[in-house]
Amino acid sequence: MLTGDAAGLAEPMTGEGIYYAIKSAKLAARIICQGLEDVSLELSAYSELINAQMTRDLKYARQLAALLYRFPKLSFHFFVRNPIVRWGVVDVLYGDTTFEQLLRKLVRNSPRILLTGLLHLQSTVSANMPHETESQLFPD
Ligand SMILES: Cc1cc2nc3c(=O)[nH]c(=O)nc-3n(C[C@H](O)[C@H](O)[C@H](O)COP(=O)(O)OP(=O)(O)OC[C@H]3O[C@@H](n4cnc5c(N)ncnc54)[C@H](O)[C@@H]3O)c2cc1C
Repeated sequence: MLTGDAAGLAEPMTGEGIYYAIKSAKLAARIICQGLEDVSLELSAYSELINAQMTRDLKYARQLAALLYRFPKLSFHFFVRNPIVRWGVVDVLYGDTTFEQLLRKLVRNSPRILLTGLLHLQSTVSANMPHETESQLFPD
């Protein structure tokens, strides 16, 4: 039975893995205890639990991370500076929502996010300081 990092259970956007290590260890302990009482219990019960409670949502986190890290400069204007995204990620890390729900919220709010991002871009360009700010934040 693999748990935590060994099971690939770290959140791909921030690299947070402690929560996932503890949660998967608790699920492993639960299955081990059940297995002691019911010898017919298959170890696949653990994988199923991990998939249902953890892997599924981490898949959405991977999609979001792929987008953010593929286009870091655009993501800065369209996502990182956007309160819907920033607070959405905080809510996920607090366990108040899931990455799946966050992604759905982002899709629902995409026109607003795009518009705010464009305004951020425009104000950065007109202030004539995009390269300094962005290259400091995202050095190559
Ligand atoms: C620099 C850094 C900063 C991080 N910051 C954060 C953070 O702020 N928040 C967050 O949530 N996560 C953070 N993480 C990720 C987090 O540390 C890991 O996701 C988490 O510790 C995974 O826990 P784990 O129990 O799976 O593995 P580990 O914590 O790596 O524990 C595995 C243990 O097994 C031991 N071990 C290995 N092989 C053997 C062996 N053959 N026999 C016996 N023992 C063995 C190791 O020595 C180790 O003690 C950070 C990681 C790094 C590298």
